[in-house]
Amino acid sequence: MCQCEHCKDGQEQFCVKGAVMTYNGEGYDGERTMGGYSQQVVVSERFAVRIPDELELDVAAPLLCAGITTYNPLKRWGAGPGTKVAVVGLGGLGHLGVKFAAALGAEVTVLSQSTAKEADSRRFDAVDHRATRDQETFGELQGRFDLILNTVSANLPFDDYLGLLKPNGVMVTSAPRVTPARSAPSP
Ligand SMILES: [Zn+2]
Repeated sequence: MCQCEHCKDGQEQFCVKGAVMTYNGEGYDGERTMGGYSQQVVVSERFAVRIPDELELDVAAPLLCAGITTYNPLKRWGAGPGTKVAVVGLGGLGHLGVKFAAALGAEVTVLSQSTAKEADSRRFDAVDHRATRDQETFGELQGRFDLILNTVSANLPFDDYLGLLKPNGVMVTSAPRVTPARSAPSP
């Protein structure tokens, strides 16, 4: 096991050695990785989870990608009864984020560009759905949320969203667009 600070802390996704990509990547042992379409894959048991027999594999697969990406911050930041959670965007990530947050007992609001997906929000047990295209939304919901889960990969006016948080509230961005000021020189 890697002994870097992040790996020892159980945060292997931040390993200082960088990620080993699933497809044609190079493992730390120098072997090529052969991808998730293989019939069999050898991984450390620390990265393997048992899929219950009653769960079909095609249904389980999204829970390991969009699912864990949204479940983790909801658990980490205490989404549950008595908390108000906003989920920004209702795509693949957002849809699971809304379902998880509601199942955890939080009061969930979806912040979407328009009201076109409002019926979906309600179906996933959100209590509210607001259009972010409408600037009044940001005034009406000011100081409302304990947690904002941003699942949108486009640049957003973060200041507007931060204004929707209660004092000491948290906003988690799952896919920030960070452009380095200057790329590192090649070795
Ligand atoms: Zn490491």
